[in-house]
Amino acid sequence: MSAITNHMPTAELQALDAAHHMHPFTANDELAEKGARIITRARGVHLTDSEGNEIMDAMAGLWCVNIGYGRDELADVAARQMRELPYYNTFFMTTHVPAIALAKKIAELAPGDLNHVFFAGSGSEANDTNIRMVRHYWAQKGKPTKSVIISRHNAYHGSSVGSGSLGGMSAMHEQGGLPIPDIHHIDQPHWWAEGGDMDPETFGLQRAQELEKAILELGEDRVAAFIAEPVQGAGGVIVPPASYWPEIQRICDKYEILLIADEVICGFGRTGEWFGCQTMGIRPDIMTIAKGLSSGYAPIGGSVVSDEVAAVIGSGEFNHGYTYSGHPVAAAVALENLRILEEEGVIPHVRDVAGPYLKEKWEALADHPLVGEARIVGMMGSIALVPNKNSRAPFAEAGTAGFVCRERCFANNLVMRHVGDRMIISPPLVITTDEIDVLIARARLALDECYAELQKRNLL
Ligand code: PMP
Repeated sequence: MSAITNHMPTAELQALDAAHHMHPFTANDELAEKGARIITRARGVHLTDSEGNEIMDAMAGLWCVNIGYGRDELADVAARQMRELPYYNTFFMTTHVPAIALAKKIAELAPGDLNHVFFAGSGSEANDTNIRMVRHYWAQKGKPTKSVIISRHNAYHGSSVGSGSLGGMSAMHEQGGLPIPDIHHIDQPHWWAEGGDMDPETFGLQRAQELEKAILELGEDRVAAFIAEPVQGAGGVIVPPASYWPEIQRICDKYEILLIADEVICGFGRTGEWFGCQTMGIRPDIMTIAKGLSSGYAPIGGSVVSDEVAAVIGSGEFNHGYTYSGHPVAAAVALENLRILEEEGVIPHVRDVAGPYLKEKWEALADHPLVGEARIVGMMGSIALVPNKNSRAPFAEAGTAGFVCRERCFANNLVMRHVGDRMIISPPLVITTDEIDVLIARARLALDECYAELQKRNLL
């Protein structure tokens, strides 16, 4: 059998892909018709495809390649670790140096007394750990009825049965028998879409108080935890009003509900601090981490846990774990990634240089006739496409404008994603100001072309 390589014609690779490879979150009929885009290599903030196009990746893959592509240091560390100890588990009272060193480093970087790490292979797995951990925590404390976890509609926490249940994506709940029992969803703080006549701060407060209402309705003795992304990512980069998080923190404190910050996207610098909870001024008991932990160079995630929660969980056996919990190669790669983030000052770069620069340019897109609002925190931003700039009313046919805009981005060698009619970005954190200029110029061009296309189709 001949080897399948980057040098094969695109159409041949696409045919093989369509024949044998099942894609996540992909409209399969459309894929079969058009063929997948084949990415062959990447460096810095750019991807190269099989047709030789150089594409700026303003999504950092799936919000994960924080240090950018092509860092040899990580490849070297992975090769060294594979030669020395490619695998051993951390079950049954064994450990290894990469897991020890990475857990210690994460504990140093994490705020407050979040000093303990339970490793997983991904964000979904880590959130599954969290479900079992918070329920077991309350059982160990003699309160086994506290099993309900409160989350939010339109949240994303992963794609496994547990984490998909925590998430509030209705399209996911429609398939495969989700949610599992004892997960309760409240409304999201999405002022632009759901705020009506209210001002954003009053609305933010009201949405936070839904948590208190839910606790009182369900009963304090039933509720184990509240989970949320500091800034919703996959839901459309929804930046909550400033009033939201302080009120959530107050409610969690008052009712002694564990607060889980899902930092899978926000963690490791994306918001301009090490963790999104620091940007939002909250004190979680547990943080979910993945993605930026290794900049996507190796699959790894985890739950970062407070002293108190760790002490309770650690008072007996926790019957939980994954073959790849603390995988030595992934852990070594993650540690090297954290070294680069720290020693190269990537977080100050986001906070003081690239972040403010991108914010100014991104928010200026709000002058475009197709753009209703532009929001951004650090290196995660969104714009709302609207048919009429003078109102927040959405397009009659949701998602078409976003889809057209995304296609125009691709055609102009820019990866932006669309969530309905919101366009979102999450570029590598190492992006330079010159590269930001290119990003914005391509985004503007795509918006112009999208506007023209929507006019042609009478959708404006
Ligand atoms: N939580 C959040 C906030 C995420 O954005 C994601 C992935 N987009 C996950 C969890 C799931 O992570 P994974 O895909 O690594 O399982």
